[in-house]
Amino acid sequence: MSLNSKATLFLVATPIGNLNEVSKRTLDVLNNVSVIACEDTRNSLKLLSHFDIHTRMISYHNFNEEESAKGIIALLENGEDVALISDAGYPLISDPGYHLVNEVIAKGFKIVTVSGPNAALNALVASGLNTNHYLFYGFLNSKASHARKEAEGLKMFPYTIIFYEAPHRIEKTLKMLHEVFGDRKACLARELTKLHEEYYRGTLSDLCKLKDLKGEMVLIVEGYSKPDEQIDLEDTFEEINELVDKGMRKKEAVSEVAAKYDISKNVLYNAYLKENDQNEKD
Ligand code: SAM
Repeated sequence: MSLNSKATLFLVATPIGNLNEVSKRTLDVLNNVSVIACEDTRNSLKLLSHFDIHTRMISYHNFNEEESAKGIIALLENGEDVALISDAGYPLISDPGYHLVNEVIAKGFKIVTVSGPNAALNALVASGLNTNHYLFYGFLNSKASHARKEAEGLKMFPYTIIFYEAPHRIEKTLKMLHEVFGDRKACLARELTKLHEEYYRGTLSDLCKLKDLKGEMVLIVEGYSKPDEQIDLEDTFEEINELVDKGMRKKEAVSEVAAKYDISKNVLYNAYLKENDQNEKD
């Protein structure tokens, strides 16, 4: 498909708290485009005023996506560059813009991303949980029954999962995830890049004890991992017998094998005696 080279839609990430995270390129783009499409113009005005940017703003939010996408396409057709920003972080990441991007792709205009902060990645890299593979899930459904179904669908997912959550729902969400996932490692990252940035690291049951959590937050949960393989007692008996045959006392042999498999020596000793009794009767 040919690329319409007349105009560009810039997808611009903006700060998630600390305004000093704005890059020079972000400011250049926001200053030089004809129009900035904002999720909430009042909110973005604070950012633009702070940097003395006077570019015209229009609104682009979930409730008028189709209508305002048409307006933005018209601007691009007119040769005018447009920047799309959300209230914080990347547009389209749990924020509006998906419809627009697809319209712009379909019309063959250029799309350029201007990098910047993102709450999910900030939280992930400091969480202490596996970063090799992860799923950004974003918000669970706001209806509790739907959220539980979503969590059940994620239960066996083997990689780290990143959730966004609102402070008024976090306690219920933590409790529900603990019930569905079991007690996995987790990290709650709060107020990232702001004065009161905080990380709570532990397990889901530890996080369930937190009360009155406020501010913006990201929850990172460890992925599913297979429970330890069941230990085959027959193997342990064979190993004990081998040690006994070599001259070790029964109790010592049991202790050694129990330590190797990280199981209780009393339980193993009783099972071993029972097995030997049985063999003698047979
Ligand atoms: N587009 C944003 C991004 O790229 O991260 C996300 C926007 S989404 C509507 C808002 C959610 O992002 C919040 O409810 C919270 O879960 C997370 N979030 C945004 N800023 C945050 C911050 N400073 N600290 C922690 N979480 C944040």
